[in-house]
Amino acid sequence: MNAAFLIQFSYIFSGFCFILGLKMLGSPATARKGNIISAVGMVLATIATLFNNDIDQYKWIFAAVLLGTIVGGAAALMVEMTSMPEMVALLNGFGGVASLLVGWAEYTQKIQITNSIKTFDAVVIILAVLIGGLTLTGSLIAWAKLKDLSLGSFKISPALTFKGQKTFNILLLFTITFVALWFTKDPDLKNVFYFIIGLSALLGIMTVIPIGGADMPVVISLLNSYSGLAACAAGFIINNTILIVAGSMVGASGIILTSIMCKAMNRSLNNVLFSGFGSTSVGGKNKDVDGEANPISAQDCYYLLESANSVAVVPGYGLAVAQAQHAVRELGECLEANGTEVSYAIHPVAGRMPGHMNVLLAEADVPYDQLIEMDDINPVIESIDVVLVIGANDVVNPDAREDEDSPIYGMPIINVDHAKTVIVLKRSMSVGFAGIQNPLFFKENTRMLFGDAKGSANDLIAEFKG
Ligand code: NDP
Repeated sequence: MNAAFLIQFSYIFSGFCFILGLKMLGSPATARKGNIISAVGMVLATIATLFNNDIDQYKWIFAAVLLGTIVGGAAALMVEMTSMPEMVALLNGFGGVASLLVGWAEYTQKIQITNSIKTFDAVVIILAVLIGGLTLTGSLIAWAKLKDLSLGSFKISPALTFKGQKTFNILLLFTITFVALWFTKDPDLKNVFYFIIGLSALLGIMTVIPIGGADMPVVISLLNSYSGLAACAAGFIINNTILIVAGSMVGASGIILTSIMCKAMNRSLNNVLFSGFGSTSVGGKNKDVDGEANPISAQDCYYLLESANSVAVVPGYGLAVAQAQHAVRELGECLEANGTEVSYAIHPVAGRMPGHMNVLLAEADVPYDQLIEMDDINPVIESIDVVLVIGANDVVNPDAREDEDSPIYGMPIINVDHAKTVIVLKRSMSVGFAGIQNPLFFKENTRMLFGDAKGSANDLIAEFKG
């Protein structure tokens, strides 16, 4: 058995781990194991690659692995759960730049050694560089938007639009296509190659700046897909099977996730990328809501809960901020001990990343069979006595269903306002991610339990225990 055979065999096994891992990520019950299996596959693929006969110097590889492990490990340990989307955005960007550098290095080497490049090689090099470059800059802009960074008084997070933007982007796309075709015909032109790198970086910036608000998660998922496609192209450049396989998987799963998220927000990808949601110049109106909100004390809230036969908890981003998942699980147990049927209604884009609420509730050992998806809870929500909205806002905003002028009109929501009683746990009347007021808080059947979600949940637990 020679090294090449062993490497290819390990790659097949790694590919199997990736497929199995991805499949297991589909359910909260198996997701953790799926993650570990995929990671084992990646470690195996990395070790197998080290046996490649073409490697003549290991020192740089080990230095990079060491540095990457320290930086990546520390970042992963330190990142707050609420900052995961920013972290994913950065990781996408790193994936993109890695593919860009592979393309660049191979190009330089091929030009120096052979002074000629086959058309196929030129095509895959330019694809890796183009997609990698736009993924890098696009991801950095997405990261800055999610971090809510500003340049002086200029805020970067809203959708930034200007007159003629679409025309500019279309022209840019045409220019890139033309120059890329030119390069594949005449790959010796180094300056054209560098020009394409610059154009791809500009394209990444231009495609992400007009996007803002609640559309950012879709963009992150799309950029994730791009980073996979760039890796796939890089795999063709260096003829590495597992890079092609893993890259295509990331590319395909990113696109599938993007389409699931668009569906969850009832938007087309076209609309997400080009409508300028969240800009001040485009989009719907943020109306003023008439009426007064009805505050409730923890004690009165306890009386409502204590007499309820069924309670549905609708968690949102505020649950993650307050780290209230354990307190909420304990509250659920108090309710069950009182004979109440408890369920947890999960909106697909609640929180700040896909599956955010599932991860938090799983961490607190909330039984999976109590988790109900939006499409399953909505038809029966009228029969629920009390809905506890914990740190959620946009995903329960009835304007998404009723007000055609609302910027989030058309986004499917959990129809909590149709339940008999709604209790909202949040700190103030502040808006959510989309930056719009929520008429739910002013409805007759809604009560507001103001305070940090964890504190409020603990107060309710104390009432049950006391
Ligand atoms: P929202 O961001 O709409 O609302 C969260 C609410 O939580 C706020 O109104 C805030 O009100 C409250 N809150 C914050 N901190 C606390 C706390 N410590 N205790 C109690 N309440 C708190 O969250 P949703 O989950 O309803 O909606 C998610 C939004 O994020 C959607 O617009 C979605 O499109 C978007 N998004 C989703 C991503 C995903 O993939 N899931 C990724 C990125 C964005 P107050 O300050 O008054 O307490």
